[in-house]
Amino acid sequence: MNILVSDHLSEEGLAILRAEKDMAVDVRKSVPPDELLRIIGNYDALIIRSTTRVTEAVTEAGKRLKVIGRAGVGVDNIDVAAATRRGIIVMNAPEGNTLSTAELTMALLLGLARNLYHVHHLLKSGVWDRSRHTGREIHGKCLGIIGLGRIGTEIVKRATAFGMKVLIYDPYASQELADRLEVQLCALDEVLSQADFITVHCPLTDSTRYLIQDKEFEKMKTGVRILNCARGGILHEGALQRAIESGKVAGCALDVFEQEPAEHHPLLRYDQVIATPHIGAATVEAQQSVAVQIAQQVVETLRGRPARNAVNLPPMDPEVLERLGPYIHLAEKLGRLLVQMAAGPLARVNVTYTGEMNDHDVRPITAALIKGLLEPVLNRPINYVNAPVIAQERGIKIIESKSTLAEDFSNRIALEAQIAQEVLAVVGTLFGKSEPRIVRINDYHLDAVPEGHMLIVRNSDRPGVIRHISTILADHQINIANMNVGRDKPGGQACTVVNVDTPLSEEALADIAALRLIRDVRQVFLG
Ligand code: NAD
Repeated sequence: MNILVSDHLSEEGLAILRAEKDMAVDVRKSVPPDELLRIIGNYDALIIRSTTRVTEAVTEAGKRLKVIGRAGVGVDNIDVAAATRRGIIVMNAPEGNTLSTAELTMALLLGLARNLYHVHHLLKSGVWDRSRHTGREIHGKCLGIIGLGRIGTEIVKRATAFGMKVLIYDPYASQELADRLEVQLCALDEVLSQADFITVHCPLTDSTRYLIQDKEFEKMKTGVRILNCARGGILHEGALQRAIESGKVAGCALDVFEQEPAEHHPLLRYDQVIATPHIGAATVEAQQSVAVQIAQQVVETLRGRPARNAVNLPPMDPEVLERLGPYIHLAEKLGRLLVQMAAGPLARVNVTYTGEMNDHDVRPITAALIKGLLEPVLNRPINYVNAPVIAQERGIKIIESKSTLAEDFSNRIALEAQIAQEVLAVVGTLFGKSEPRIVRINDYHLDAVPEGHMLIVRNSDRPGVIRHISTILADHQINIANMNVGRDKPGGQACTVVNVDTPLSEEALADIAALRLIRDVRQVFLG
């Protein structure tokens, strides 16, 4: 097997490749594009960083290529679609920067507690001032962590070693993980009201954009210190500025901004703010660690083992794909629906398959279902290859069963999860072999199209409810594409599913939630 490394890769990564006796490694830094085209046909694997551009022409000339490894996260210099068409696995190394970012967060946290950066700056400018900069110990203080993923988990370990009490808000984290780390999962409000320090480690998604805005700052303790080393836009910068002005926030550390570079950002004026230019991953070790990770992954893949962190999936056997494709699509939608409706962490999901899909290997369908469960809540490329592994790491068990009993539909995929005290069930089917439908949510029978932005409303079955929902949507300029109601009995409880053309603002959702006969409303995006 021949491996071409065409950008700088640290020695630690190269050593792993060279240790494989039956693999030959060529390191050719900065290969011009035409030369890359000429030589790529000799290689089974290509490892790059951000310089080499892997165009469609490169994937075509790479007749032997099986895998392209990117030492780092972003794959925008690779034509992933072209690689996928040719059956080449593209993988990245997203875990390499976890520790570096966690350490930067701890450095900033300590810096905030002791006003380090401010006094340092004063002293450098000739001011020896010991009296006005009394700091706080972090020992015994409460740290609120928003997002218990890779980085959040590392922060837990470090903060508890410093004697901090840790509270977590992560609606998708499993209790099993929290128990293992000996931390408490709580509601967002509880974290906001109890924490002396708050640090954000979730991805930037539709549901986390402006997660912390004016009303969240209001719920915090006066004198709270807050950190964002995740992504700009999770904290609302205007609201943060107001909270600093009002004295609510005593200190703030930012590695990320809504617009970067941010050298003239208004927040930088405040002594309470310390800031770094998005350097969470900028360490020698992170660079080494991504090199090691990608080298190991490429070797494993060339040896035919499962491709970890593959961002694509080579096409399946076309015949199988034709038969299973619509079920794969349906399963992914149902997974997305379940996770976004869940009001707590998923620890175990039971899936029952009924109908013709049982004549085939259902693993690709389950992989798609898991992809749907994870993608809306994680900050990493999830695909059919890595989804089952990531679910396992996060303590989510998927229990598959097959049933021949087609009570209502000739084919169906039924998901059921126990979330806190509640059982959440969703059932989907294909109409006419390829049209996906949601046919049941809990006990409510429906005929809803799982597509785009949707509202799932649980309400009392009384005259006027639907009119009120429609009026609020119209007031907020939201167009309804489809509406479907299932109820347990006339005048009982109902589930109203609304497909809308554009997402609802928080205000619109709050207006619907405030209606007298509404029990619960959730907005989901099914893609
Ligand atoms: P991850 O995918 O491992 O974990 C993300 C966690 O956020 C998951 O546990 C998920 O359940 C949780 N989450 C999702 N939606 C949530 C919500 N609405 N509320 C609370 N929690 C929610 O991601 P990671 O690798 O730990 O990265 C975390 C963040 O750090 C990401 O935003 C990433 O982009 C950022 N990051 C920044 C730098 C830097 O240079 N500053 C470097 C690496 C990562």
